Amino acid sequence: MSQSLVTDRPRFRVFGPRDLDSIPQLASISPSERHAMQVVSRVLPFQVNPYVIEQLIDWRSVPDDPIFQLTFPQRGMLEKDDFARVERLLTRRAPAEVVARAAARVQRRLNPHPAGQQALNVPTEDGARLPGLQHKYRETVLFFPAQGQTCHAYCTYCFRWPQFVGLEDLRFASREADDLVRYVRAHEEVTSVLLTGGDPLVMRTSVLRRYVEPLLDPSIEHLASIRIGTKSVAYWPHRFLTDPDAEDLLRLFEQVVASGRSLAFMAHYSHPRELSTPVARAALRRILATGAVVRCQAPIVAHVNDDAQTWADLWRMQVQLGAIPYYMFVARDTGARRYFEVPLARAFDVYRDAFSRVSGLARTVRGPSMSATPGKVVIDGVARVRGEAVFALRLLQARDARWVGRPFFAKMDEKAAWFDDLVPAFEEESFFFSDELHALQATGDARSWPHKPATRSLKLLPDDDDLAA
Ligand SMILES: *Cc1c(COP(=O)(O)O)cnc(C)c1O
Ligand code: SF4
Repeated sequence: MSQSLVTDRPRFRVFGPRDLDSIPQLASISPSERHAMQVVSRVLPFQVNPYVIEQLIDWRSVPDDPIFQLTFPQRGMLEKDDFARVERLLTRRAPAEVVARAAARVQRRLNPHPAGQQALNVPTEDGARLPGLQHKYRETVLFFPAQGQTCHAYCTYCFRWPQFVGLEDLRFASREADDLVRYVRAHEEVTSVLLTGGDPLVMRTSVLRRYVEPLLDPSIEHLASIRIGTKSVAYWPHRFLTDPDAEDLLRLFEQVVASGRSLAFMAHYSHPRELSTPVARAALRRILATGAVVRCQAPIVAHVNDDAQTWADLWRMQVQLGAIPYYMFVARDTGARRYFEVPLARAFDVYRDAFSRVSGLARTVRGPSMSATPGKVVIDGVARVRGEAVFALRLLQARDARWVGRPFFAKMDEKAAWFDDLVPAFEEESFFFSDELHALQATGDARSWPHKPATRSLKLLPDDDDLAA
């Protein structure tokens, strides 16, 4: 098997909305459903490659197949009226720009800019904004390399979809590796840089190298880890095996490890199927062999993974293959969220049930977690306190480092599906951080890290040989 993995060199190619009538596997779907996919894809385009089509989707169980649901547009992703409006234009063969305008109107109704991503988290240097950087939590800087702003999937619940549909230009992205290095060097509180996108591993190795190598400079001692957020491990594992620059990519990983830092993959696996193919497993083995760490995260979404057995299998398989379960997210309030929405109470049940089925090695996973305006809010449980049903909540990460880890409570609401749906329990006026959050937002900076933890150099003590020399 491993022989053929290396001798077969599947070529990466992308299928999108234009190919809906030419992907042979889709021929098994009824013409009316294919038509529905055409309509939805005008508003929420998709992107898929031959590996996902041929090896991840089980076409016998389409349309219910979870990977099919995750990848291809579905009628229910649009509100009935919106669907009908776009459909009418297509049936009437309206000019392309008329359809595009109607699609854009629908897109703008899908909350393309949730949680103040754009306005609030971009740092400044000498008064100038540094596009392509986000610094919301003290220890970690996010970097969006311009060439890595597309992705292996266009998940329609992902907060990145506005970028994929061209609703948002690449204001978020940067070509300036220099900005990143200067910023990290100047900010000793930053111990982790997270390269994200899109998917940074859609970049060629030579381009990725331009961003990573400067960070390895010994003068940036306080940088302990470099992370890469990626779907490629799940949707195009050939990136690590047979792509023309796969070897060079693995050498780059080794270089990071050799610099004395942790290289961590924040791998987006949504379903155990993605870890089941020989290619996927071979890719994981190769990544781990470079000394890198693989941590796994994904949102819980309806039609794909909203049941406990799926998550228990996913976490167990990750541990078995040497990867670390890390976060279960709640999908944000954007895009096709109605279609994928899982109420918070239900998400917590799934988390708890799955958690109870796995060994301690898999219980590194935290969730369900919402990346909301104040920070990453995790649901710790549903409890009854003096007769009132409440959600017990906690911030895992926060705009103000002092808010982290303090329990707080919201009224239990079976239908609540996002942080903004929650109201404080016990007749309180607001959550404990609300006033400070508003004050921070008013300053336009919206971050507060009054206590800089002292950083400590990770320099090794000389070993005996050095002493003897
Ligand atoms: C999740 C996230 C991070 C990373 O948080 P960790 O808990 O360190 O994984 C950093 N910045 C933002 C804006 C995030 O949403
Ligand atoms: S970043 Fe993850 S969730 Fe977003 S589109 Fe890519 S694969 Fe999907």
